Amino acid sequence: MIKIANYINGSLAAPLAGSYIDNFEPATGKVYAQVPDSDTNDVALAVDAATHAFPTWSGLTASARSDVLLRIADGIESQLDEFARAECVDNGKPLGLALSVEIPRAVKNFRFFASAVLHSRSELYEGEGTGLNYILRRPRGVVGLISPWNLPLYLLSWKVAPAIAVGNTAIAKPSEVTPMTAHMLAQVCIDAGLPPGVLNILHGQGAKVGQAMTEHPGITTISFTGGTVTGAQVAKTAAPLFKKVSLELGGKNANVIFADANMNQAVEGSVRAAFANQGQICICGSRIFVERSAYDDFVSAFVSKAKALRVGDPLEKETDQGALVSKAQLEKVSRYVELAKEEGGQIVCGGSTPPTISERCKDGYFFEPTLVTGLSAECRVNQEEIFGPVATITPFDAEDEAVADINSTKYGLSASIWTRDLDRAHRLAGNIDAGTVWVNCWLVRDLRVPFGGMKQSGVGREGGDEALRFFTEPKNVCLQVATKS
Ligand code: NAD
Repeated sequence: MIKIANYINGSLAAPLAGSYIDNFEPATGKVYAQVPDSDTNDVALAVDAATHAFPTWSGLTASARSDVLLRIADGIESQLDEFARAECVDNGKPLGLALSVEIPRAVKNFRFFASAVLHSRSELYEGEGTGLNYILRRPRGVVGLISPWNLPLYLLSWKVAPAIAVGNTAIAKPSEVTPMTAHMLAQVCIDAGLPPGVLNILHGQGAKVGQAMTEHPGITTISFTGGTVTGAQVAKTAAPLFKKVSLELGGKNANVIFADANMNQAVEGSVRAAFANQGQICICGSRIFVERSAYDDFVSAFVSKAKALRVGDPLEKETDQGALVSKAQLEKVSRYVELAKEEGGQIVCGGSTPPTISERCKDGYFFEPTLVTGLSAECRVNQEEIFGPVATITPFDAEDEAVADINSTKYGLSASIWTRDLDRAHRLAGNIDAGTVWVNCWLVRDLRVPFGGMKQSGVGREGGDEALRFFTEPKNVCLQVATKS
């Protein structure tokens, strides 16, 4: 049985109370590791370490910090296969996805911010009189980084890299459901020569260790990615402590297809958007709206592609759809499919757990890629985040109607528009409530652009300069200069 450790002050450490929680392999439903059940005492220890490390780390040149980040990136890359396999076992995602997208993206996150801090700039305002105003951006101190289970190392490194690149020291809390690659990252950081205390990784339950981090007065800043309900709790705890908070929350994203779209591209992209990572990506396109004249053809092409997706053992190369992350997630998805039927929907493909995949996976948390038609945009299935392999398709007649349907949820994370009419795409992009609008594509990511959500999908943005700004404190220096000697 693997025993996962916390990473505090440069060393791997057992939780102070000695308690652990079970970590399940989703493909088998079996416990395969023990995760520290850390508490406020572990948080206090990590905050001490991070506080102690801050003056030296923040006092290094940007290039010295950048070099360490590059070594961390190299360290992950040199173990690409091991990291990908660990992510796949821990989360249930197909190995191919972890190998080709997620672990390489974690490497890129470190390289991107290692480079970004070497090229960042600040403003200077030359006054009309004699004043020169310039802006210093200084790290904020000890920051807390809380991440979810769906893209474990990808999202954790998306926070860790900018936070420490600009000179903060950090306490990261990965999801207790998928702790393994964060545990491996700790060893990479040790091997890369990251000074003790710069990054501390605490494992455990959100309501215990995540809550304790949010409450701790020594943590100045919280960058949180997770569900909207948890985000509200984080905001509520952090507000009276005047912490700077960034919230990347849930979504219920729309995918809108016009009859003039390149249909092969639109079907292919929509299937990927609906079912990638078993539909467990915050920007998955789970609500599909299709212009009525293209509706029937689109549905039948979509169904045939969805049925061709192979649900299987995540460790096998041919698998397109692995296991859902947990039993709780499987039960939640099943409940929403039952609700879809109660709300009058027709299940046109999938809708249940698949036949037994293999002896090894007989108790795993698998669910078929599922498509529901015949639901209104207002019903619960179309309003609430399911976060699983369940998509709905609804026809529309006019552009205005599509925009109203798209904007009808409390979320505003992302949307995709498929059309050859770029005037229309531009018009719609302006009218859709979403932090990201993709046109004729989905999940194309440039790390320089702001990423985040509107409405209940979040507050603030990550990525590029936005992340560098979030993790620093701007200080205006006004210099009164004499114009005459
Ligand atoms: P979650 O909110 O249950 O947990 C997220 C993290 O918060 C975990 O590490 C958890 O332990 C911790 N946590 C739980 N309670 C806490 C508390 N009281 N205080 C502090 N931390 C606490 O979310 P999840 O189930 O792990 O992830 C799925 C959700 O994340 C979905 O809603 C998905 O849309 C969202 N998500 C959003 C983005 C984005 O960028 N907007 C990206 C990925 C996932």
